[in-house]
Amino acid sequence: MDCPKCSTSLTKKYYKGMMEVDYCPACRGMWLDFHELDRLEDVTFDDDAHKGSLVHHETDSACPCPICGEKLQEFQYRLYSLKLDTCAANNHGFWLDAGEDERVMEIMRQRAGEISRKRQAESQWAGLLKTMHSLLTK
Ligand SMILES: [Zn+2]
Ligand SMILES: [Zn+2]
Repeated sequence: MDCPKCSTSLTKKYYKGMMEVDYCPACRGMWLDFHELDRLEDVTFDDDAHKGSLVHHETDSACPCPICGEKLQEFQYRLYSLKLDTCAANNHGFWLDAGEDERVMEIMRQRAGEISRKRQAESQWAGLLKTMHSLLTK
């Protein structure tokens, strides 16, 4: 497999001790299969209802998919300014430029934090209602 950005041969790399990715030693980008990005999200974000890859903006990229050679599509990930290249033709996976993987992790950590804070507030509120209810019905 060749790098879609600079045509250097991709090498296998064990990413953060959890999965194997195809890594470009020249531009430090990496290729992730769809299920691999799913695992990346699972690390800090395991709520399936809030997970997923919302596409907000799509444009053609000049770069070819390293697996099938079809042109990749560039899209914006969720509501953030993160841009990923994906094989839209055959759903092979994503290309992350150098540093974009850290951005994905950061977004997931941030989202997971927001949701756990919200849950905490909700359960405190529910606890208060329960207490009030039991006081009123005694
Ligand atoms: Zn490269
Ligand atoms: Zn492809």
